Amino acid sequence: MKRYEDLSPSLRCIMTPGPVEVDPRVLRAMSFPVLGQFDPEFTDIMNETMEMLRKLFVTDNDWAYPVDGTSRSGIEAVMVSLIEPGDRVLIPIFGRFGHLLHEIAERCGAEVFVLEKTWGSVFEPNEVIAAMKSFRPHVVAMVHGETSTGRVQPLLEIGRACREQDALFIVDAVATIGGVPVETDAWMLDAVIGGTQKCLSVPSGMAPISYNERAEAKLLSRKRVERGLRTGETQRGKLSFVRSNYFDLGMLQDYWSPKRLNHHTEMTSMLYALREGLRLTLEEGLEARFARHALHEEALVAGLTAMGLKLYGDPASKLTVVTCVLIPEGVDGESVRFMLLNRFGIEIASSFGPLKGLIWRIGTMGFSCRENNILRLLGALEAVLIRHGYSMPCGLGVQAALDVYESNIR
Ligand SMILES: *Cc1c(COP(=O)(O)O)cnc(C)c1O
Repeated sequence: MKRYEDLSPSLRCIMTPGPVEVDPRVLRAMSFPVLGQFDPEFTDIMNETMEMLRKLFVTDNDWAYPVDGTSRSGIEAVMVSLIEPGDRVLIPIFGRFGHLLHEIAERCGAEVFVLEKTWGSVFEPNEVIAAMKSFRPHVVAMVHGETSTGRVQPLLEIGRACREQDALFIVDAVATIGGVPVETDAWMLDAVIGGTQKCLSVPSGMAPISYNERAEAKLLSRKRVERGLRTGETQRGKLSFVRSNYFDLGMLQDYWSPKRLNHHTEMTSMLYALREGLRLTLEEGLEARFARHALHEEALVAGLTAMGLKLYGDPASKLTVVTCVLIPEGVDGESVRFMLLNRFGIEIASSFGPLKGLIWRIGTMGFSCRENNILRLLGALEAVLIRHGYSMPCGLGVQAALDVYESNIR
């Protein structure tokens, strides 16, 4: 009979744009005993998680809770619940995840209008606002931090325009939440989706979301309570009902409300993990956390530049938590990645679509974003590049990063 060995995953230094290393406190939280889903001890944990999520999203919204599934499930839940078949949806795309929003909007039966930007840059808010004036969308959906290209899109002016034109603004902040500022209320975002396995250092498997009263009004107008749960006073909405049961936010919010109207079985251990990740984030403080991400980015970029490597994309829109590096001529990018992983235990990412084979992507997110990881990566990358025939002045990368750290004694 085949014998299956004990599970023993290697300890890695994960410098990708997710999943990243999980904080040991989060791993510990995941090993606690499971509670029943209506146990008051557990519903208290649900409520505390909502409270902490409001702080993370910087919002006074009533609704801030996780959708169970990876970040994509949060995106899909928000879109399928807020987009009615036939709605006009504007999607400005500047990388892979913008294409994902397009794909999901089509599946929702929307009439989609797409704006595309060359990869490596982001939109001038006026380009989006002009398109809104001619297309008159019901919904605008776009990405905040595009991990595929390492760019960040300014959102405030677009948010204001959506409010003025009465369009709902849906934002994918999966890569940015907890790593760079995301101001749900101040930027007038109607629905925002965050991620766990990126800047929050929690495993993949939950998608924190928040939405305001404007979004809620649309959900409620599409409401349909599940057959086995209906009572005499259950009201049907006026618009066509949401075509997904699992992702119907109207039912999910009943589950997260004091009614506790049962939907699925909440993911107990993942919720422990998210709660601990949020506690860590708020203990550190959002501002301090953003400053930490910026410091390690600065050290990384100083090191890479000192090694003679060139960064990809428009510097004005660089996303703090993802650094895209052009693979030097004549160097086999995949072979470098394999050697980093196999010899040094360090993982960096390649890229997708038009950027495949052209850039490496280095994540500096959450628990992975710390000084010893940056120094390890720079030292190892130099050794591996020399091994691949790339010539550069030796030792400068780590020294340049150390200079940044020493001039930033906190
Ligand atoms: C990672 C990522 C996603 C998808 O997240 P999953 O957890 O893999 O579903 C979506 N959008 C952006 C911007 C991301 O970086």
